[in-house]
Amino acid sequence: MLMLFNFLAMPWMLQRQVVEVDYGTFIEMAENKELGQVKVQQQENQILFTNKDNTAVYKTAMMPDPNLTQMLNESGAGFGGEIIKQADPILSFLLSWVLPIVIFILIGQYISGRMMKNAGGSNAMMFGKSNAKVYVKSSEGIKFSDVAGEDEAKENLAEVVDYLHNTNKYREIGASMPKGILLVGPPGTGKTMLAKAVAGESNVPFFSMSGSEFVEMFVGMGASKVRDLFKQAKEKAPCIVFIDEIDAIGQKRDGRVGGNDEREQTLNQLLTEMDGFEENTGVIILAATNRPESLDPALTRPGRFDRRVPVELPDLKGREEILKVHAKKVKLDPNVDFGKIARMASGASGAELANIINEAALRAVRDGHRYVTQEDLEESIEVVIAGYQKKNAILTDEEKKVVAYHEIGHALVAAKQSNSAPVQKITIVPRTSGALGYTMQVEEGNHYLVSREELENKIATLTGGRAAEELVFHSSSTGASNDIEQATKLARAMITRYGMSKDFDMVALETVQNQYLGGDTSLACSAEIQAEVDRQVIALVKQQHEKAAKILEENRDKLDELAKYLYEKETITGEEFMNILNG
Ligand code: ADP
Repeated sequence: MLMLFNFLAMPWMLQRQVVEVDYGTFIEMAENKELGQVKVQQQENQILFTNKDNTAVYKTAMMPDPNLTQMLNESGAGFGGEIIKQADPILSFLLSWVLPIVIFILIGQYISGRMMKNAGGSNAMMFGKSNAKVYVKSSEGIKFSDVAGEDEAKENLAEVVDYLHNTNKYREIGASMPKGILLVGPPGTGKTMLAKAVAGESNVPFFSMSGSEFVEMFVGMGASKVRDLFKQAKEKAPCIVFIDEIDAIGQKRDGRVGGNDEREQTLNQLLTEMDGFEENTGVIILAATNRPESLDPALTRPGRFDRRVPVELPDLKGREEILKVHAKKVKLDPNVDFGKIARMASGASGAELANIINEAALRAVRDGHRYVTQEDLEESIEVVIAGYQKKNAILTDEEKKVVAYHEIGHALVAAKQSNSAPVQKITIVPRTSGALGYTMQVEEGNHYLVSREELENKIATLTGGRAAEELVFHSSSTGASNDIEQATKLARAMITRYGMSKDFDMVALETVQNQYLGGDTSLACSAEIQAEVDRQVIALVKQQHEKAAKILEENRDKLDELAKYLYEKETITGEEFMNILNG
């Protein structure tokens, strides 16, 4: 590159600097013997010449001058030599050696900067910067009114907003805001959204980072990022720092061999930083997680995250409000009954409800409607929960019959135990999720305590499907696998966690590990007790299975009638079900 530059670019650069002068100057220079090299270019009708030390090149137009040759001879100029400017030696050294090196260094810096940026999200000069996204005073951002339901959480956070606006009111009494607030709850309940709403409402700078962003390719980077984040935050106080998925860095330091040093270092730095600033400096830390039990106790102690705000799955009213908030974004039939939709979508999280609305809108477009109808919404609930309908009939007649009896078996056992409509609707259209039939349960209302009898009834209901198959077809099918799993889980929980077995009294034999993510459990008892637990679980399920079989046997005529109806119609609503049952 250097050679090319010197051989091609340099002469070109030098040649450009030809100064044009008039013929008089040429004659004058010749007379004063100031000429160096002269070259007559007949074709271009011009004369190129240099001065004595070859440091400048001149050009002039040619005149029909018969004395030219003689005059040049007298002046002592050289003929026909190369007209190349002998550049100033310092300048030429600079141009040919220093300039290219400088250019290469700049290119190298640029490329390595780009590589760093790709590798670690920061460029060469930004090692260990927190690169937190700052949301400042977002006026069009999310407000509390966009977050439906979750009133307790909102109330709690509204206090923070108020504190940031009227710090003095709190200082006068001597109250200090908690330094850290931990939002805990299942996925999709709006934790991130609430944090953004706090920023939107409080009009202060908002630093947002995800726990995983602290942990990077380079060891030690996490800790330095934490340091930088807090430094920035303190400069910008009052402000809010939001750390999403804090469990990525805040996990218990349990000293396991091969533990993650980098993560522990990051956590230590976070602990120190949270201790490091005084109360009332106006830096408030919000963090969200769905695994609060895995957090290090040092992190959750008062003085660091003093407050824990549960963000739970929405109840009936909450679901209705969330549906309404999201429905504002789509064109809707004015007769849509949100209450009914909310009742049907029991157990859905905010994110699922948002998805239901969107699925309904997509369905409306697919069907060429101009707006979203009640039917679209109802169908989309089933889509979100159970998957799309399978278009081609894949069930044989015999299978369809079995599925109809199975689903009616569940519903009939449930209805006979509670004497009320157990289902909203049953369909036996296969779904893409693999479900052959689908039962939409009736909302049980806000129910906080469940009695032993209710749990037993639930197990009986779960075994009802299989019991009906056995009663009618005298055989069993694979369709009950999910029921079996659920019934076992319930029976096991009754014995190991709810103390509903006489033999074990109130001893916890199992502990729940992550409450918000599926609720896995681990056994905490000896092998003998385990064997006994298994025996009791089996006995409990068996007892309920027999009870279900008995109920179905006593109502065999209703079972046949309902199953036939479902087989023919493929869908039965709770109302129709009760009419036939009581008819
Ligand atoms: P997470 O609790 O997992 O952080 P998010 O805050 O990211 O959940 O919520 C995901 C999406 O679900 C949001 O973007 C929003 O559309 C919807 N959502 C969840 N909860 C609510 C709520 N209470 N009100 C309105 N929308 C909600």
